[in-house]
Amino acid sequence: LGYKTSVYALSGQVRSLYSYAMNFNDKVIFVTGGSSGIGAAIAVKFAAHGAKVAIVGRNETKLKNVSVECERSGSKPLIIIADVARDGDADKAISATITHFGKIDVLVNNAGITGYSSIVTNDTMVLFDRIMSVNLRAAVYITHLTVPYLIETKGNIINVSSIASTCALSKGHYAYCTSKAALDHFSRCIALELAPKGVRVNTVNPGPVKTDFVENMRTLNAYSDDVWEKLKTIMPLKRIGNSEEIADLVIFVASDNAGSVTGSSFFSDNGSLVRGAFE
Ligand code: NDP
Repeated sequence: LGYKTSVYALSGQVRSLYSYAMNFNDKVIFVTGGSSGIGAAIAVKFAAHGAKVAIVGRNETKLKNVSVECERSGSKPLIIIADVARDGDADKAISATITHFGKIDVLVNNAGITGYSSIVTNDTMVLFDRIMSVNLRAAVYITHLTVPYLIETKGNIINVSSIASTCALSKGHYAYCTSKAALDHFSRCIALELAPKGVRVNTVNPGPVKTDFVENMRTLNAYSDDVWEKLKTIMPLKRIGNSEEIADLVIFVASDNAGSVTGSSFFSDNGSLVRGAFE
């Protein structure tokens, strides 16, 4: 009985340590692309964990909807209407956050776009520049602006990448895949530079998740109507990811529980990358 009692007492301590480490009370989280899908789920979950959240996007209506959800689960976020691909907008977004909250503890570079991109069409470079400017350049510039504040708070950065960083995904997505591969490597490189300053940098790499993102790809005729059913059958776990489970992973990587983790990539993809070549 004594042994069991001490095991229970210990597991209680572990549980309370766990919830302590996952507690984001008074932490300030800056999330780009917080107006829908994965970014919205990240904002709402952080708010539920006690954080103060700033959400960035171009669509005011969607931002306001997410704001209501955040308030319901925790507290009212700061909403910032900005195009992350414009340096002036990014400058204003960071300074608005500092004016409002006084600091930043976690930066989540989540805003992303895709689009059909082929290497042989006339608009190849237009599409390439657009995708790189949102998925990579904006993340680099916003990181540059935020790092001085993260050094002060010993904070961390999560870049929302993709399984596309490690595979060609499907024909016609070379620009997207290239942008995400570069985002992963950018993250590793700055993880090394920022480690001595106490700032961690990691990526979270989702597989297919049912959001507007994939719906937009469908309207671009990249996928057919039954895409979800088809995807489900080829996933080793026979399921599709959802925004909430990607948000849970982001929360874990951002938390003190992951205090030793930097320069790493965390895949949540229902096993899609371990599919056998001959299956
Ligand atoms: P959504 O299309 O639902 O969300 C994309 C978000 O990015 C929106 O909030 C959008 O806001 C924002 N955004 C896009 N361009 C800009 C811009 N120029 N300035 C500011 N905000 C911008 O897609 P997801 O939630 O699925 O995607 C989020 C991230 O997850 C992306 O980086 C994507 O690459 C990644 N990902 C998604 C996967 C999926 O299957 N869904 C799989 C792997 C990775 P607004 O429209 O208001 O500007």
